[in-house]
Amino acid sequence: MTVTTRFAPSPTGFLHVGNLRTALFNHLIAKKAGGQFILRLDDTDPERSKQEYADAIQEDLEWLGITWDRIERQSDRLDRYSEAADQLRAVGRFYEAWETPTELDLKRKKQLNMGLPPVYDRAALNLSADEQARMRAERGAGVWRFKLDQERIEWEDGILGPLSIDAGSVSDPVLIRADGQVLYTLASVVDDIDMGVTHVVRGSDHVTNTATQIQIMAALGAGHPSFAHHSLLTGPQGEALSKRLGTLSLRDLRAAGIAPMALLSLMARLGSSQPVVLAGSLEELADGFDLSQFGSAPTKFDENDLYPLTARILQETPLAAVAAEIAALGVPDQLAADFWNVARANITTKADLAPWWALFRDGAAPAVEAEDREFIMQAFGMLPDPPYDGETWANWTNAVKEATGRKGKTLFMPLRKAVTGQDKGPEMADVMRLLQKKPAL
Ligand code: GLU
Repeated sequence: MTVTTRFAPSPTGFLHVGNLRTALFNHLIAKKAGGQFILRLDDTDPERSKQEYADAIQEDLEWLGITWDRIERQSDRLDRYSEAADQLRAVGRFYEAWETPTELDLKRKKQLNMGLPPVYDRAALNLSADEQARMRAERGAGVWRFKLDQERIEWEDGILGPLSIDAGSVSDPVLIRADGQVLYTLASVVDDIDMGVTHVVRGSDHVTNTATQIQIMAALGAGHPSFAHHSLLTGPQGEALSKRLGTLSLRDLRAAGIAPMALLSLMARLGSSQPVVLAGSLEELADGFDLSQFGSAPTKFDENDLYPLTARILQETPLAAVAAEIAALGVPDQLAADFWNVARANITTKADLAPWWALFRDGAAPAVEAEDREFIMQAFGMLPDPPYDGETWANWTNAVKEATGRKGKTLFMPLRKAVTGQDKGPEMADVMRLLQKKPAL
């Protein structure tokens, strides 16, 4: 059987780092096995699903190079879900129920007061045909619930190991709402069966869903894929990330200048026993990917870890890959290679390129200590007008040294700060070579 995985976001918002983990794991499993990766848009909720988000999801995945072999939209498959619903009715596993949310709430409170688990009591199952007709006449269509077999549901989880859930502790899941809207659980099961999905990796918040889905698949006469549930991400101190995920969208990280391979390399290893290594490609990540190395403990994510990885990638990036962006900054062609070689060792993200170019083009606001002011005036007086070359710095500092008697750090540091406005940065010989304007106080 072809290994087939899917990433199934709901287009109700932008993808964030948490979603990315799910997408990446499924992508890597398929690629490693030479299988198929499906992008599935879980868009059965017409109110919350937006085309804008569906487009954004694809754009974000493309930015990362996470390609899909097939795209599916649940909203195109509503007929299939009705067929499956009929099939569940035919085998006696689907029943209509009319309780209002308030009534259900009351039942739950009573159960909790009596120390019982708040599981739906299946009152609707005991309605006679007459009572059902009366309910329908009074309340309109009900919701449709799947009748669980009250036994233990067991599976070997790809990350969590052997799992077992007592179906008696779970309410019969509602699969179709009173307004006819098919809910995720049914749609997902039908898709996983029809699309031949062999492996499902998703967040551990789906463990109970998995238990019920295993029974629904069996009721539809199908086997089930292997399931694995990865831990959820937390912040660096272990704090819940859920509230911050809005600011950790893939768009925000892209806008912050994070390199795709930095993000992918971190995400492919974070939470596993294998070290994070900066990979050159998704193929390389797929080769080394091993789901069994991931643990069940919550995974700490610190977005600051993405910056040094991005910087390392930039240091190894050839000019050709950034030539267009460098030209867009206004760097003349003949300076591009030189500028990139000097700048790339001194940036964290590409966003740092513009200030470096501004410095070379216009000069910096000099940082000069009061006691060095006279020295700098004298030194600037000894500097010829540009163009400068690779010898300019050595010639200039030799002349200044002779004229002022300064040497070492007291000679070089004030000059660096006066020319660049900073106390660190590229070799001064390189800075001078790129400088387009004579520095002045
Ligand atoms: N749309 C579901 C979600 O985003 C998909 C879960 C699944 O992978 O089955 O949570």
